[in-house]
Amino acid sequence: MNNLGNDVNNLYSRDGMSAEELFGKGDGMTYNDFLILPGYIDFTAEEVDLSSKLTKTIQLKAPLVSSPMDTVTESAMAIAMAQCGGIGILHHNCTPQYQANEVKKVKKYEQGFILDPVVMKPDHLVRDVFESKARHGFSGPDKPIFGIPITDTGNIGGKLLGIVTARDIDFLKPDKYEIPLMEVMTKREDLVTGRSNITLKEANSILQHAKKGKLPIVNEKDQLVSLISRTDLKKHREFPLASKDSKKQLLVGAAISTREEDRERLHLLVQAGVDVVVLDSSQGNSVYQIDMIKYIKSQFPEIQVVAGNVVTVNQADNLIQAGADALRVGMGSGSICITQEVMAVGRPQGTAIYKTAEFAARSGIPIIADGGISSVGHITKALALGASTVMMGSLLAGTTECPGEYFFSDGVRLKKYRGMGSLDAMEANKGSASRYFSDSEKLKVAQGVSGAIVDKGSILKFVPYLIAGIQHGCQDIGSKSINQLVKMNRSGELRFEKRSPAAQLEGNVHSLHSYEKRLF
Ligand code: IMP
Repeated sequence: MNNLGNDVNNLYSRDGMSAEELFGKGDGMTYNDFLILPGYIDFTAEEVDLSSKLTKTIQLKAPLVSSPMDTVTESAMAIAMAQCGGIGILHHNCTPQYQANEVKKVKKYEQGFILDPVVMKPDHLVRDVFESKARHGFSGPDKPIFGIPITDTGNIGGKLLGIVTARDIDFLKPDKYEIPLMEVMTKREDLVTGRSNITLKEANSILQHAKKGKLPIVNEKDQLVSLISRTDLKKHREFPLASKDSKKQLLVGAAISTREEDRERLHLLVQAGVDVVVLDSSQGNSVYQIDMIKYIKSQFPEIQVVAGNVVTVNQADNLIQAGADALRVGMGSGSICITQEVMAVGRPQGTAIYKTAEFAARSGIPIIADGGISSVGHITKALALGASTVMMGSLLAGTTECPGEYFFSDGVRLKKYRGMGSLDAMEANKGSASRYFSDSEKLKVAQGVSGAIVDKGSILKFVPYLIAGIQHGCQDIGSKSINQLVKMNRSGELRFEKRSPAAQLEGNVHSLHSYEKRLF
């Protein structure tokens, strides 16, 4: 502020509103209802520090979380999110064993080492290799088809007997497709392999000298541990923001419900190395959730617990008192959500974040703004209102790392995206149904829909775009970090303004006959 006297200072303070003034009138508002006024820039966008707390003890370098939905987060998404500085929360619409195994895949992940390659047995046929190739494509991120290790069990962990590469089978005529792989594979004695403690650098140099494309990694009993592929090494990139634990393993979260039998699921997840557990409930203020928080804290005090979902101060208070390490905030704001329409309950997301964050900050509990994020600007707004991180479903859906296959509709490449409270998801498995109603309820009432999202490419490109977008937003606001943004909010220095419907139209692309919207 300059020193031209009280008059000018008054004008300053009447320009825009503080968050308290914006939300103090009892209106329910969400992201598109307001804007943040620009501040003063004396730093570059790259300098903006986006470190923020996910929970009381877990700090991320990027405030981004992928939602526990069965069309969003399994291990591939969780690995990519953690590499980019965020974290993925594995969904629980699957058996406890499956979910625990997904946790293991993230915790054991080392860049360049493929821990679950396609593996076959010696009595598999050449035809099986071609079929597998048709099913998985030529080389998915973690499935290099043309380098199939052969083990006695047909699985990773079995004794390595050989490898089948393109060179072994590419020139075979179709009448040879019924031959067992043991007759065409490169045998163990002719294979170059690496030992399980090998570094990527060493592996690279072995592959270069041997002029091979694949390096099977074995333990002292000659059992297959992983596979290294030269094409992956060529793509090797650094991830300076990666979210890691003290053992340098990627961080991962997993969702569970509050049902009695999920206590067993919890034990399996903890054994597998999960870092944070998210109690997945659309209305978290319940005796079941409070009991579950207390149970987890008594059994595993080191595990961070995210409770929710909540949208009011009263709900937040109960879960914080029960011992929650973070709160997931949002009810009815998700893109696939029909909760507000069906249940008549919920809260516009902007108000929900502001009210709960203001309250939770007193106990040092971070807020995760969950649902309704449909652009990078919404992320900056959520952070400006006091959220420490944001959780996204639709914004991350349609990426390569999401579960599910791409399909075409009217020439557009799509991936399925569905609400966990959609009939589609609830009928697929029980985990999802538990979030939206109890087992005793006979008639299912859907709280979500099932749809599709356009192909967005890889998370490894999309998340850096989100990070750069938030950094530019913060720069315009005049905030060098998320911490500073929070301080500016609390002090009233951060100024907001409501947007009329006409202002909202003006703020979007308008008056054009046609246009192409490319984001990065
Ligand atoms: P999105 O990012 O707007 O797509 O919202 C994702 C969020 O919606 C999730 O993180 C959940 O909190 C919520 N959600 C997921 N499935 C459903 C559903 O079926 N009904 C209501 N909300 C859902």
